[in-house]
Amino acid sequence: MAHYELQKVTFTYPQETSPAISSVSLTIKPGEFVVLCGPSGSGKSTLLRLLKREVSPGGTMSGAILLDRMPIQDWPARELAAQVGLVMQNPDNQLVVDTVEHELAFGMENFGLGREAMRRRMAEMAGFFGLEPLLERKTDELSGGQKQTVNLAAVLMLQPKVLLLDEPLAQLDPLAARELLGMIKRLNEEWGITVIMSEHRIDDLLPLADRVVRMEHGKLAYDGDPRAFVLKS
Ligand code: ADP
Ligand code: ADP
Repeated sequence: MAHYELQKVTFTYPQETSPAISSVSLTIKPGEFVVLCGPSGSGKSTLLRLLKREVSPGGTMSGAILLDRMPIQDWPARELAAQVGLVMQNPDNQLVVDTVEHELAFGMENFGLGREAMRRRMAEMAGFFGLEPLLERKTDELSGGQKQTVNLAAVLMLQPKVLLLDEPLAQLDPLAARELLGMIKRLNEEWGITVIMSEHRIDDLLPLADRVVRMEHGKLAYDGDPRAFVLKS
């Protein structure tokens, strides 16, 4: 159930000489809320994408990434897609169809869910995120905060066990960021979803986190209690 084990993971992009991630060992337990921080270029995005096997083909990886004890490369693509959701910084890159309702339905269409189950899940998701009044709206007319909320809801339609978020708040104004963060925390607490979230400015996240992981130059610079991290930095 959504247990990650990274053993000395090193990853080098194609045509690069130095690794983007270097000898990272990490265990993430089911239900944890992990905040991933570190300066730009320290390897946060690469690490998150490796967890979903979404990195440039042609890169070289050594070490091992196990999801529920099975090497990530052995997971069938469909199952991995359903188990692990990824939300990126800019929702415009992830929203693909016209309306909010179609966006929520889109990801599921490849998964052959019956119409009734689909309707039920959509109602649940729209309710949780307060999206009912927006279902008919065009996604490109929404505010940045609304777009990111729709993006998150669409990812959750597949009922992933793990949610990877790559600086999801970076493009939002402070109020929208706080609202989205509150929803992410509720998903973690109420639905038991494992959350691994990167962010530049983490002051607001520390009180919510179970763990802080800090990357520097592709290496693990801190892994532990958020309170101890505050004292250290
Ligand atoms: P962060 O998310 O912390 O900003 P990244 O994982 O994006 O860090 O980047 C880590 C390092 O890998 C940086 O040196 C970056 O330039 C490099 N990098 C990221 N993506 C690619 C890519 N597609 N090809 C080559 N190098 C990349
Ligand atoms: P972030 O800092 O938010 O992780 P970046 O601005 O580093 O993102 O990267 C944005 C995009 O550019 C990503 O898709 C990343 O893979 C790509 N990229 C980053 N660095 C490089 C690089 N050195 N060579 C090629 N692509 C890169």
